[in-house]
Amino acid sequence: MNYSRGLQVAIPFFYSTQKEKSFISSNMNKKAVLLFIPLLLFTAFKPVHKKSPKRHPVPLLLISFDGFRHDYLQKAPTPHMDELVKTGVLSEGMIPIFPSKTFPNHYTLVTGLYPEHSGIVANSFYDPAFKALYKVGTKSVQQGKWYGGEPIWVTAEKQGFKTGSVFWPGSEAKIAGKYPDRYLHYNGSMPLKARVDTAVSWLSGQQDFKADFVTLYFSNTDDYGHLYGPQSDSIKSAISKLDNTIGYLVNRLKKRHVWPNINIIIVSDHGMAQVSHKKVIFLDDLIKLDHVRITSNNPILYLQPSKDNVIPVYRKLKRSEHHYRVYLRSQLPQRWHLKSNKRVADIVMVADLHYQILTHNQFDKIEGKGYLDGGTHGYDNDEPDMYAFFLAHGPSFKRDLIIKPFQNIQIYDLMCKLLDIEPSRNDGTMSRLSFILIN
Ligand code: AMP
Ligand code: ZN
Ligand code: ZN
Repeated sequence: MNYSRGLQVAIPFFYSTQKEKSFISSNMNKKAVLLFIPLLLFTAFKPVHKKSPKRHPVPLLLISFDGFRHDYLQKAPTPHMDELVKTGVLSEGMIPIFPSKTFPNHYTLVTGLYPEHSGIVANSFYDPAFKALYKVGTKSVQQGKWYGGEPIWVTAEKQGFKTGSVFWPGSEAKIAGKYPDRYLHYNGSMPLKARVDTAVSWLSGQQDFKADFVTLYFSNTDDYGHLYGPQSDSIKSAISKLDNTIGYLVNRLKKRHVWPNINIIIVSDHGMAQVSHKKVIFLDDLIKLDHVRITSNNPILYLQPSKDNVIPVYRKLKRSEHHYRVYLRSQLPQRWHLKSNKRVADIVMVADLHYQILTHNQFDKIEGKGYLDGGTHGYDNDEPDMYAFFLAHGPSFKRDLIIKPFQNIQIYDLMCKLLDIEPSRNDGTMSRLSFILIN
């Protein structure tokens, strides 16, 4: 075991390479760094009393293909992933949590928590206690205060292992006191090969750092799915691009002698459903929008009217309920595991599959850009169109196994088992996926 482990944990920023440093520290508050330096130096030279690390587990690589439907392998030739299927485990579908949106599902995947417990109840939502909005695309995603539970990288680090993240929702925030040992600020334009190269360098222990757990994220199928729809020919090119990326990854892992001693789990966060400009519900034709705050958007809306207006607005929407369903938060179905969290607004409106709920203003803004006749997600997680993807491969997994759909809350426990670490409290069931592992 590497006896410098404690030192590295204590001073992660000093160990960054120049390239990583530019990503890692660019957004750091410089004052905070100055305040930290004495503390870091002190920590570096005193013995670090961490739980003594176990033997290195087989490294684990968690890959997300955003918006990759459970049936996309049948949509385009995918020779590289087919090879992994033959020698690994494929699910007929993975059931996302509701709402079937990107941030809630990615965060559930790494915590095993339903959204009412994880706190990430949508891609955007309002917290009445913080009196602030969480929103993808803003600095809020980097603030630890929004995130509940314990992501797998925190669980792993606490138990003596090293982690890295080439993007993952939540990875840029200090959660439960920790960041991943290495992480990058989100940059959707980073070339796919550069993402793979970074992950492989961490997994293979180049540059003085060897990770036991790494995440990789790609948005191609979500981007194309929104623009052109899941039935389009264009989506095939995004699927092929990701398949080629897997080919490149395997090749690089072989070159660095990491392959075949690595467990790889490829997942997606949700599926994608075809939409049409002919299936649009205009919110402002149903209710007056003054005094109603829309905190989460199409096709599942969180609506917060002023206090006295909650019931009148709800009744109005209920009377016109056609191609959507409307709920008071307290009436949300239990199976969605949302209603106990006040970040969910008082009124929730969910479009039926293939329908969209937009204001005239929103419609005008996106008209002509493709999205109105492309695809979207966020719908009821019971809809098979929303089912996500799961493929696992490596020495710990059985081979040539196809399994029935299961819920994505089970992934966290599965990953803890693979890394042989004690999971934090979560909503999964430890034994649920044990049958896919070689004992
Ligand atoms: P959605 O709106 O649910 O389709 O979200 C997908 C989009 O989320 C992607 O196209 C990215 O632009 C964005 N995204 C994904 N991961 C991150 C991240 N870690 N940080 C910020 N934005 C992200
Ligand atoms: Zn997504
Ligand atoms: Zn999306």
